[in-house]
Amino acid sequence: MKTDLTTSLAASSLSTLNFDNRFVAELPADTDLRNQVRQVHRACYSRVQPTPVAAPQLVACSAEVAELLDLQPADCATEEFVETFVGNRLLPGMDPYATCYGGHQFGHWAGQLGDGRAINLGEVVNRRGQRWALQLKGAGPTPYSRHADGLAVLRSSVREFLCSEAMHHLGVPTTRALSLLLTGELVTRDMFYDGHPRQEPGAVVCRVSPSFTRFGSFQIFSSRDELEQLRQLVNFTIRTDFPHLDAPSPAVYLQWFEEICRRTAGMIVHWMRVGFVHGVMNTDNMSILGLTIDYGPYGWLEDYNPDWTPNTTDAQRGRYRFGHQPQIALWNLAQLANAIYPLIGQVEPLEAALQVYGDCYRQGWQEMMAQKLGLEGFEPATDKLLTDELEKVLTLVETDMTIFYRKLADLSPEIDQDDDSLLTPLLDAYYRAEELTPEHKARIGGWLRSYLLRVAGSGIDHAARRRQMNAVNPKYVLRNYLAQLTIDKAETGDFALVNELLEVMRQPYAEQPGKEEFARKRPEWARHRAGCSMLSCSS
Ligand code: AMP
Ligand code: MG
Repeated sequence: MKTDLTTSLAASSLSTLNFDNRFVAELPADTDLRNQVRQVHRACYSRVQPTPVAAPQLVACSAEVAELLDLQPADCATEEFVETFVGNRLLPGMDPYATCYGGHQFGHWAGQLGDGRAINLGEVVNRRGQRWALQLKGAGPTPYSRHADGLAVLRSSVREFLCSEAMHHLGVPTTRALSLLLTGELVTRDMFYDGHPRQEPGAVVCRVSPSFTRFGSFQIFSSRDELEQLRQLVNFTIRTDFPHLDAPSPAVYLQWFEEICRRTAGMIVHWMRVGFVHGVMNTDNMSILGLTIDYGPYGWLEDYNPDWTPNTTDAQRGRYRFGHQPQIALWNLAQLANAIYPLIGQVEPLEAALQVYGDCYRQGWQEMMAQKLGLEGFEPATDKLLTDELEKVLTLVETDMTIFYRKLADLSPEIDQDDDSLLTPLLDAYYRAEELTPEHKARIGGWLRSYLLRVAGSGIDHAARRRQMNAVNPKYVLRNYLAQLTIDKAETGDFALVNELLEVMRQPYAEQPGKEEFARKRPEWARHRAGCSMLSCSS
């Protein structure tokens, strides 16, 4: 098969990838080998082959993820790489399969979902002994495709590829992305489900993660009373992904669940720190490892608005809005607790673990806010008032969250300034600075003075505060309009911006002179444009 990429004829290291496919080796398989949509019982996965495509082409590849697999950047430019990671060719040791899971979608039990367009290739153990599962998203139908085609389009694949890597470099736990390829085939999508289908370029992303197991992977067994399979998957997950825990037993199940609560709390604190809105926090999109997974209609807060969600499907109810994410994570954990209850048989310790989620989240959030403000720690007695008022100050007029925190680090420590001078370094954060009335300025100025007093009272050095803040408040995030501009270009066959954005997002906390255009607030044209402020699940 030909690709129009300039490919190297040199042998790549691909054939030396060391596969050790524990998931398929140790867990129950579907005995039906037909690739046909159906209910799959008493099995964790179904073997299925990716669908070959006509004219694959490399769009981008992440050098760091390649390295995790002991691959060199040159390996990613080979024809073998392209053919492999679009799903046209299997490497020795690959054993492709789709997993079975269920989930609560928008608060309602949806039954069997499963990998409808994700095909797992196997698990690579690298030279450092780390285990990485590889998964192609958009590589064709599986028994779990329900009424859909098993494919993905370039638009959503650019978004998933870039955001996985951006999140990693921001320090947010996430699944990773090795590669983004075009299939050379067209896929029909009705982006807003409003009777306007169009043909879009098809694409495949290779996702990489220690595990792709979700809350819904456990829920499906419990919902069907398939307790033996439930136990097998829990035991396997503990042995493989939580190896520091003791051999599985009811007591260890509880420790395991508590750890999932802690990890999930940690992940959500990071989302709140960087202004990330997942958009579809269904239980099938919650990783058992507390990783951000399944990048769909996610978005980044531009103006700070806790009620914002990018997902048009959820715009009315706002179930998955920014400020509701901590509660939704708890609700999802409660569904997981229900699913594993049959293995434990006691409600109280599960409730206690859910309590741990709340405690961890609260403490993690406070520590995170202290860091964002450059304080040495959060002192509830004084800092609760400070952060409560900050929340109000940020919503007085449209205020860019990312720019605000970044500029706050530059604030001069001089307290005796009038409102206007105090605000000057922050003006860039306001979408319409002319909307700032004297009352707004007085309130913001008041907050800035209390903040500076708090800083002065603790004797925090100005330069040290600035350094600390700039290490947790990113300058560069994957702004919604930047992703859309990149998609517009990529759809014309120009991938330079995908690669440039990938590069910029590798150092989100650095100043990166010459790249400031990627740190600008949303331009007016993007305010209501599809893909920038409104997204759907269609992908
Ligand atoms: P998501 O909302 O992306 O988490 O997807 C929910 C479910 O729908 C999962 O089981 C997906 O595998 C499935 N799904 C989404 N898009 C497709 C598609 N184009 N073809 C097959 N299954 C899909
Ligand atoms: Mg999903």
